[in-house]
This record gives sequence, structure tokens and C-alpha cells, in this order.
Amino acid sequence: MEAKGKTNLLGLTKEQLGDVVEDLGEPRYRAQQIHEWLYARGVTDFRAMTNLAKPFRDQLSRVAVIQGLTPLHQTFSPKDGTTKFLFALSDDLRIESVLIPPATAFRDTEQQEEDEQSRLTLCVSTQVGCPLDCAFCATGTMGFLRNLSAGEIVDQILQVRRLTLRRVTNIVFMGMGEPLLNYDSVMAASGIFTAGAGIAQKRITVSTAGLPDRIRRLGLEKRKIKLAVSLHSAVDATRSRLMPINRRFPLEDLLAAVSEYYEETGQRVTYEVIFFDGVNDTEREVGALIRLARRVPCKINVIPYHSIAFTDPTGIGAGLRPSPRLEELVRRLRDHHLTALVRSSAGEEIDAACGQLAVRLSRSPGERRAVRGLASQSA
Ligand code: SF4
Repeated sequence: MEAKGKTNLLGLTKEQLGDVVEDLGEPRYRAQQIHEWLYARGVTDFRAMTNLAKPFRDQLSRVAVIQGLTPLHQTFSPKDGTTKFLFALSDDLRIESVLIPPATAFRDTEQQEEDEQSRLTLCVSTQVGCPLDCAFCATGTMGFLRNLSAGEIVDQILQVRRLTLRRVTNIVFMGMGEPLLNYDSVMAASGIFTAGAGIAQKRITVSTAGLPDRIRRLGLEKRKIKLAVSLHSAVDATRSRLMPINRRFPLEDLLAAVSEYYEETGQRVTYEVIFFDGVNDTEREVGALIRLARRVPCKINVIPYHSIAFTDPTGIGAGLRPSPRLEELVRRLRDHHLTALVRSSAGEEIDAACGQLAVRLSRSPGERRAVRGLASQSA
């Protein structure tokens, strides 16, 4: 990426940094040193890269920049320790990230992982807005503006580390946007998180609305990052109402891809489900979910619903309410020997669901209408 005629180093992989240093007449191993300064130590000034000779640092300053996000707003929930961050991009668009401490991650009556208490998960955005328009999602109401670069994705973790002085241990691509529609940048960012920020691939999860080709690609590339699928219903008619992408890729297509992914990687998939009153919490729906969940080894994450009433939703979105049967539904799933985890309603008071803060804080109703106009022009 170029910034004012200079190359922005933030988001470049070791390989790409190698090309930059070679072009400047330096040995390729210098890329390893710069990679470490950028991603392990998070420096933003070439002068701080003290193991590089001063003439080389000066040369870097002339041809390159380290340009990241601008932190705008931070909301902390004293109740559960969840923190939400709002960032401005260089073109003044807004994205958000959510830091989720262990107590508010998934609650399970079964075996907890050993490292549960030290886990600190960052939910990162991959697009500005999203084109998929799920009925329950604030981000969807923004429409799609653009993909984030690998640097804009990576800088979310670097900024959060800097702002909180805490070590992020897990990453979920579950913020604003559909990550598999921005495949190359998301995979580049994952590689950087792993190589430079010390986050193992098994601690990185990509959450998708269900794009079969991209799921297959993850499998064929033998990615060790985890796959989560926003399912929300195992009945095509219901899922299509909640998630329009299902009209293009119905459940059978999705399940075939998930099955191939499992065969290639041996990794079980996570299905995410929000139960809505009278929509997907009926006997028929739960029965279909149980049958679907038996097809490929999986676990089910049950996520509480954060109302998006402030976005003035229309259609089915206007009538969505959280199911009052949540406990009973989870019990049903467990009675059928399925692993069902329940996320606490952490962060509700700070708009911690996808897109809520960015839509609410950065856009007045008038601005939101303007953004929608912009989105339809760019579609
Ligand atoms: S839930 Fe995810 S895929 Fe659906 S509109 Fe929101 S950001 Fe896009």
C-alpha cells in the first residue's frame, strides 16, 4: 500500500518486507528485524529500530511510512471487562474492535480449556460495512464501503496492545464485515499475527456467513486457523430470511463445503446461533439444528442477541426479539450429546455486538443515510 508516494510497511509480510529492503540494497535478513519491530514490538517510528544502521533508518524514512489507524473512542464495561474500540481509517471511515476477557467468552458446563483464565480475545473487523445484510446485524445496515487492507486489520491488535498494555492471546475475525470476502488480506493478517505477534494459528478463528468456495479454499490450503459458521437456522426458508446469502448458497451447499473442509483439515467447525423468539426457537427448528450438527464434528456457540432497534430495521429485522427459551434450548442440544457453549451477554451496555458502536457513534441518522447512498454507488 502506498501512502503519499511512500510505501506503508504496516501489513507487509516478511516476504514483502524482504522485497522492500532488497530494493534498497540491503540484505534480505533485515526484513526479519523490521518485521519484529513492527509486529512483535509495535513500534511506529523508524528511529526506534535501533538494531538497524542509522543511514538505513534514514533511507527507510525517506521511502516508507508506518501508517496505521487513529484511535477515536474506547468504551469499557466495568461489569465484565469488555472493551470496545472505535478507530478511524486514513480515509476517515470508521471500524471497531472488541476485547473480550475470559469471563465473558463462552461459558460451558463441560470441560474448560486449561488456559481459559489467561485468554484475552480480540474481535477484529475485516471490512468497512458489509454487503451481506443479515437481518440481525448493525453492520449490515451500513452497506458495503470497502475491504480493509492487511495493515488495517493487523493494526487493530497493535493498537489494542498499545492502548491496554495487555497481551492479546486469541483473535476472532468476527467484527464488521464478512472475512472470507476479503480473503487475501485476512490470510496475510493471520500470517502476521502468527509470525509477528506470537498468536498460534489454533488461536485464530475466522467466522463466516457461509461462502462455500472460500470454505473449501481454507480446507485445500490446510489452514490451521479455526472455522466458525454463522448458522442461525438449519431450515433454508428461515435462514434465507435471516441471512440473504443463504438464497445464493443454501444449506446443502454450505454443509458440503464444511464437510470437505473437515476432511481436509480434521478440524471441527463451530456453528454460531442466536435464538430469536418465534423464529428459530421452535421444535422444528431445534430438531433440524440437531440433525445438521450431527453431520460434521462441531460445537455450537449460542450468542445472545443485541438489539439493533436504533438502526430502524425493516422486514424481519424489525420484529426480532431474543428467545425466552434459551436455557431450555441449550439443554436440548446437550441432551443430544452436542457441545453447546453459551456466551454471556457481555458488553450489551457498550454496544459490543458487531457494528453497533461504529454505526451508533460515528453516524447520525443523516450520516447513516449518506453512507447507505455511498454504499449503493460502490456496489
Ligand atoms: S453478521 Fe457478519 S456477514 Fe452478516 S451483515 Fe453482519 S458483518 Fe456481514
